[in-house]
Amino acid sequence: MPFFIDVILPLPLDKRFTYLVDKYEAEYLMRGMRVTVPFGKSKVYTGIVADIHQNPPGVYEAKPIHQILDKQAIITEHQLKLWKWISAYYMCAEGDVLRAAVPGAFLLESESIVKLITNLDSDDLELDDEEYLIIEALHRQSSLKVQEITQLLDRKNALPVINRLVEKGIVALNQEVYEQYKPKKVRFVRMAEAHSGEAAMHKLLDELERAPKQREIVLNFFSLKAQSVKPVKAKHLLQKSNSSAAILKSLLDKGFLEEYFLETDRNTYSGDAPNSDLVFNEYQEKAFRDIKENFQKDEVCLLHGITSSGKTEIYIRLIQETLKEGKQALYLLPEIALTTQLIQRLQSYFGEQVLVFHSKYSMNERVEVYRHVLANDKKGQIVIGARSAIFLPFSDLGLVVVDEEHEGTFKQFDPAPRYHARDVAVVLANFFKANIILGSATPSLESYFNAQHHKYGLVELNRRYGDVLLPEIEIVDIKTKHKKKLMTGHFSDRLLEEIRVALKEEEQVILFQNRRGFSPILECNTCGHSPQCPNCDVSLTYHSHNNQLRCHYCGYHIAMQQKCMACDSNDISTKGFGTEQIETELKSLFPNHAIGRMDQDTTRGKYGYEKIINSFEQQEIDILVGTQMLTKGLDFRHVSLVGIMNADNLLNFPDFRAHERSFQLMLQVAGRAGRTKKRGKVLIQSYNPYHQIIQQVSANNYSGMYKDQLEERYNYQYPPFFRLIRFTLKSRDYSRTNDAGDWLAKSLSNVFDPYVLGPEFPPVARIRNEYYKNILLKIPQQQSLGKTKTVVHKIMNSFKAIGAFKSVKVVINVDPV
Ligand code: ADP
Ligand code: ZN
Ligand code: ZN
Repeated sequence: MPFFIDVILPLPLDKRFTYLVDKYEAEYLMRGMRVTVPFGKSKVYTGIVADIHQNPPGVYEAKPIHQILDKQAIITEHQLKLWKWISAYYMCAEGDVLRAAVPGAFLLESESIVKLITNLDSDDLELDDEEYLIIEALHRQSSLKVQEITQLLDRKNALPVINRLVEKGIVALNQEVYEQYKPKKVRFVRMAEAHSGEAAMHKLLDELERAPKQREIVLNFFSLKAQSVKPVKAKHLLQKSNSSAAILKSLLDKGFLEEYFLETDRNTYSGDAPNSDLVFNEYQEKAFRDIKENFQKDEVCLLHGITSSGKTEIYIRLIQETLKEGKQALYLLPEIALTTQLIQRLQSYFGEQVLVFHSKYSMNERVEVYRHVLANDKKGQIVIGARSAIFLPFSDLGLVVVDEEHEGTFKQFDPAPRYHARDVAVVLANFFKANIILGSATPSLESYFNAQHHKYGLVELNRRYGDVLLPEIEIVDIKTKHKKKLMTGHFSDRLLEEIRVALKEEEQVILFQNRRGFSPILECNTCGHSPQCPNCDVSLTYHSHNNQLRCHYCGYHIAMQQKCMACDSNDISTKGFGTEQIETELKSLFPNHAIGRMDQDTTRGKYGYEKIINSFEQQEIDILVGTQMLTKGLDFRHVSLVGIMNADNLLNFPDFRAHERSFQLMLQVAGRAGRTKKRGKVLIQSYNPYHQIIQQVSANNYSGMYKDQLEERYNYQYPPFFRLIRFTLKSRDYSRTNDAGDWLAKSLSNVFDPYVLGPEFPPVARIRNEYYKNILLKIPQQQSLGKTKTVVHKIMNSFKAIGAFKSVKVVINVDPV
């Protein structure tokens, strides 16, 4: 009887593939090991052994495998189980899950590109003959395809050799180039000990009588010290005295002034550095006890704690207890909130035991984290990561924290698997019988609903740590302000007034505008035309810094136009406004203050985001303008004022979650104000000041929002009362997309009527020259999810069999957000 293995290949295939192995291989192999196998005419892939058995495949002849890559399983049983669950629930291939779940370096294939990543000479590396040949070749040519290496070695399969080199850290696969992060150092100056004090100061100024330029610097130093308690930055001092580095240097050389450096991300938490014996206030204490009680009942626990109530500290204590039991902890955060701020906070408690995992990490860094977690060694105890961290090979998970659980970015949008990391985390925790806590100041309607219906436990924390009050929220009616001519650009008199107050007190300001770019669109005042993207159905957006019109969907751009492209009129103007325009207005309104901007355009690169956060923390920036990136759980200590430039464009977004989202966003951004000592202030500018949501935000009325929105969801049949599956059809042919959409909607309606919506064009119906159409399937609570999906699979199979629809792609999104 021959032996077979079922292999999961990193391809979007409906099934596992069966390969032939011999008796010895069958004995050696274990589920979760990697093998390289031939696939198709000439390709070679690395796949994962998912089963070992003696049943030949019915419809095809099993081919033998090429090689076994591992001595031990690198995928655990828990992972295999989770992949299966994800592929069934989110209706995607196991191969899609595999690709998302393991670092690319584990998945050598014939098309992979291999690069050298060491500076060492081949003779200094311990290499066998074949390894040596590869390295020598890579010294001559910067990169090689696996196929080319196979030819070079003149053997059937070079993958095991390459795999060894990957594991030794000598070569890397498909490697992108990553920036190396160096913490930024800022130079400060202070008066030398010998020269401080009134008398010494006068003596010094006398001494400098004949060096007027140096004297000028010293005078300015005193005037800066007199104005502010902030340490004096060398750069600032030079600007103020209109002087040069050389002149400052002579003062330093003479020993009058001293320079010192601070690493900007090191001293983030100076002042009240946390330590391992954390003392809770009474509210945290109570919440902590309640959470543990919930854990006793094996329930998912939802922690609804207002901004700055000290949730993070509670998570830290929970992690401590988990470690004491010798178990692993996973701390999930939305990608963007994974800042050095939080990482350092955790590291200051747990030191080396904290591993960080997110998409901006290089392949090698990810491999390293993966290995530590797999080994469950000292370094693999705590993982803090973005959504894909749920895929790590935990062996003894004791706790999962999902921070900012309401965040839509926990859901992967593209490509498959389109999973929701919060929901998968619940399943994962269940596999391990681990505790799980979902935390937020503004829980998602779904989670809060689960808590209300006793599916989850609920713990509330209603006081800010240190008893700082929640910020005072003021709504500014900009319609009236316009009428009364009290607007300067996009700023009401009230907002300007409050900004001035804050700046005078040396506090910082955050301004929120949910749009990047200068002004979204250019419009002709004669004929109404606005320039469109040729590839997408959207207007182009004006960006002033490079004077361009850009498409935010495909990146298409042209130079800013002076005349209308349709009618040649000169009378064109920009409509709407974005972050860049706010920044420009601020620069002219507050020329003596530093203005920063945080949006997709200014935060590119691995550390782009951190850099802006750091300089804001260092108070190098007085006013920070930004998009929703600003809202993600950041803890700044000197922000006293938050302004929301325009609440209306949030509220008017065409989506059934728009109101919930607006509430969450506004409350979160408001939560950045007044976190430490003084009560903060928030100004919301709106044309619609009596809008229910704005009123609820200003009263911090979560339960009111919850009640209203829930009623709407009930009336219009949306989650949490109905589950959704969205089908998106796309093709380059307009009528094909239409026909396919009609066919699919009709087939679904035959079974699921009246719960099929569409087909309809999404708000942007053409992107990169592909036409889009959406169908929404609603699933009532009493209808079986499993059976529904089986029917959907059948319909999709018939769809795929129709020749005319061959060029139409269908993307299935379960629980779309
Ligand atoms: P949240 O996560 O709920 O928004 P944080 O955990 O960031 O709130 O806490 C807000 C601030 O209060 C932080 O600066 C934090 O260091 C501080 N803080 C919270 N709890 C404690 C505690 N028990 N001891 C000392 N400082 C605390
Ligand atoms: Zn025109
Ligand atoms: Zn475009």
